Amino acid sequence: MHIEGVKLLLVRGDITIQDADAIVNAANSSLLGGGGVDGAIHRAGGPAILEECRKIRAAQGSCSPGNAVITSGGKLKARWVVHTVGPVWRGGDGNEDVTLANAYKNSLSRAMEVEAKTIAFPSISTGAYGYPVEKAALVAMNAISEFLSANKDSFSEIRFVLFDDRTFQAYEAAAKTIQ
Ligand code: ADP
Repeated sequence: MHIEGVKLLLVRGDITIQDADAIVNAANSSLLGGGGVDGAIHRAGGPAILEECRKIRAAQGSCSPGNAVITSGGKLKARWVVHTVGPVWRGGDGNEDVTLANAYKNSLSRAMEVEAKTIAFPSISTGAYGYPVEKAALVAMNAISEFLSANKDSFSEIRFVLFDDRTFQAYEAAAKTIQ
């Protein structure tokens, strides 16, 4: 599939073993690690990533929902890890869709700044943060499409690495709506 002329790949699997230039972490505001995909990335990438997160936190404080920061990839195959914070789902009346779209767009901006050409995303906010996956998948596709339309030639491949069947199917359906 393609999104704004850029290759869009949806895979089932583990984001920590991807060979993209950058992978995205669904972090929390503390940037100090957590469960889910955050825990998996820090475990696989080793302590260097957390050390960089601590320095960023010391310099600029915590990372608010919708924002993103970048570190090296430590022991991962990926050269970079973009740490973004998605919204906690509170029923949809708190602009969760805008915050989630910003998490995707700011992640792409951080990766573009280091000239990453390939980037892999997990399904931000749909685990512990409770965002309904079908809704989140549509927000993700629209946000990425808007970013790529405004930033031509920025990326060669956008990959989604989805952990379970239901999540994969939701992103597949959302991707079809923008083809
Ligand atoms: P959030 O707090 O943003 O909801 P979670 O890490 O709890 O983040 O969940 C986000 C998504 O990441 C969920 O679909 C979860 O199943 C998935 N996930 C967990 N571990 C991994 C992994 N190693 N690779 C890819 N996705 C993962």
